[in-house]
Amino acid sequence: MTAASRRWADLPGPALNETLTDRSIAVVPIGAIEHHGPHLPLSTDALVAETVASAAVERAAAAGVDAWLLPTVSYGKSDEHHWAPGTLWLEGTTLLDQLVEIGRSIAMTPARTVAFVNGHGGNVMLLGWANRELHRRFGLRSFSMPASIGGAGDGHDGRPDELGQGIHAGFAETSVVMHIAPHLVREPFPPRNVPERIAGMRHIGFNGKPVMFGWTSDDFGPSGVIGDPTGANAEAGSALFAGAVRFVTEALTEIDGFEFA
Ligand SMILES: [Zn+2]
Repeated sequence: MTAASRRWADLPGPALNETLTDRSIAVVPIGAIEHHGPHLPLSTDALVAETVASAAVERAAAAGVDAWLLPTVSYGKSDEHHWAPGTLWLEGTTLLDQLVEIGRSIAMTPARTVAFVNGHGGNVMLLGWANRELHRRFGLRSFSMPASIGGAGDGHDGRPDELGQGIHAGFAETSVVMHIAPHLVREPFPPRNVPERIAGMRHIGFNGKPVMFGWTSDDFGPSGVIGDPTGANAEAGSALFAGAVRFVTEALTEIDGFEFA
């Protein structure tokens, strides 16, 4: 099958209903339209999620997984960038309602599985909430994953000198956009902006540390960047993108065989 034929919304409704089975996986890219510094487009997170999910659906389908690409949920929970002109964000409760209602509609078809591929760290906790709602209310198997190699959504794997703080418009994210949409990247890149005091703390931090804290991106300076985009390049972006597609493809294969017991 061609990639286009795996796009849910390209099929007529009756054809979709006849084609899907209880093995079908509805893959929903979800991102954000939010400030990403002076060098990356507002659409970065939605663009990365959709591009990674599209490639992974194609690969998984070629390997026998009945994955289908749904339209991207572009607006996200970007309240941390609320201060920046151009950010278009939804309240968490509004976005939760949207995800639940998309799942409710998927549950009308033979498909029993939803997998969100997420490009925005600010959506992560909400997706955990949505997963349980979709399972409890509609009996769906529901999964969420980052559109990256193991980060929480934004930033992918940063450079060591980002001290694990390359979470927004830093080296990895800038490199990936240089690979997938170079015409949307503007130079010069803003300077390194790494919150080093937080990086040195044992318990308080972003991804993986146990003590969380409330923040907005302007807490770390006026650029809206958290990380270091200097030195970002398309070659690194190509490798990161390939790793992300490989990860999501493997995840979809694992989801295909998932059993509770
Ligand atoms: Zn981002």
